Amino acid sequence: MRFQQNVDLGPLTTFRTRGAVARRFYWIESERDALEFATAVVPVASDWLLLGGGSNVLPTRTIEVAALMRLHDRSVVEEGANIVTVRLGAGERWHECVEWAVSEGWAGIEALALIPGTVGAAPIQNIGAYGQQLSDVCLWVEGIEIPSGQLRTLTADECRFGYRDSIFKHDLAGTFIITAVTIRLEKRREAAVAYPELARALDGVATPTISDVFECVVRLRQRKLPPPEVGSAGSFFKNPIVPLPVAASLAERYPTMPQFPFNGAVKLSAGWLIEQCGFKGVRRGDVGVYDRHALVLVNWGTAQGTEVVRLAAEIKDAVRARFGIELEEEVIIV
Ligand SMILES: Cc1cc2nc3c(=O)[nH]c(=O)nc-3n(C[C@H](O)[C@H](O)[C@H](O)COP(=O)(O)OP(=O)(O)OC[C@H]3O[C@@H](n4cnc5c(N)ncnc54)[C@H](O)[C@@H]3O)c2cc1C
Repeated sequence: MRFQQNVDLGPLTTFRTRGAVARRFYWIESERDALEFATAVVPVASDWLLLGGGSNVLPTRTIEVAALMRLHDRSVVEEGANIVTVRLGAGERWHECVEWAVSEGWAGIEALALIPGTVGAAPIQNIGAYGQQLSDVCLWVEGIEIPSGQLRTLTADECRFGYRDSIFKHDLAGTFIITAVTIRLEKRREAAVAYPELARALDGVATPTISDVFECVVRLRQRKLPPPEVGSAGSFFKNPIVPLPVAASLAERYPTMPQFPFNGAVKLSAGWLIEQCGFKGVRRGDVGVYDRHALVLVNWGTAQGTEVVRLAAEIKDAVRARFGIELEEEVIIV
């Protein structure tokens, strides 16, 4: 397995912060590399990190071992008149797979366009946007158990997908390397648009196709999110889910607070809470809150990972003090 010493982790993440180094760094380029990493490297390391595209990770310190997932595969496993089943290697770029699916006329992931990162990380937080999420199309996830090296295939049910959540963040956290994800897509050109913001943006398009949705989502995301040259990991916090009585009491106190029904509870807008606490556009040295989207923390230049963590803690304290709500990080801080 290819390996190098003392690799700066900042440039391997979309936050591009300073202050984090891997003492030993490996490239996982074959199933055999993945097996060796799981059975021979990780079990003897004091700490370790597996990176895909580095778009949901904030490294803040020196780590003994890190690896980059580079397993590639894009194959059609099964094809019927209306359905296609596709196996995607963990190191494939997610957005490129979406582009591929849309160009083939396969529906189901077109609203997940422009989500950075790899296929292998997609099940970890069950990526989602504009009314679609991975769990809607996922059939199974293949991987290798650490430290036994046993190959395992988990059905979508076994993955226990939730809102930005899965078994890989709980029972299998740190003990499973995802090597491939198999998804089922529908062969159809017309899109089903349920998400209000997307429906508004598509206003005027009589019967939107999956290409219309794909292009519209790309436009919306380019408008809202920082350009790639500004360091960030997208949404830094999850949108809080609160029970109905808590939501009702908040609505009474804050009549303009956005609230969305969510599986028998209510989802609040973390961006709105942060903005109300006066953080939108705030800057502390090279760390800040993006001025077009309060949920996105940014590295304007040479910020350390620890500086981002400090600003995140300040925001959490302010939201807790004002609204009594605990924000939870979506980004994985290492
Ligand atoms: C601008 C921007 C916008 C974003 N928008 C969205 C959005 O709309 N919706 C959304 O859900 N997310 C969004 N994200 C977050 C991010 O893109 C996703 O979480 C993505 O799935 C992360 O992929 P990655 O390959 O970069 O993972 P990484 O950041 O490299 O890793 C994330 C976690 O997964 C683990 N991991 C990675 N690969 C594997 C593997 N093969 N096996 C086991 N563990 C693994 C890592 O160890 C780490 O714990 C956004 C991020 C950015 C920067």
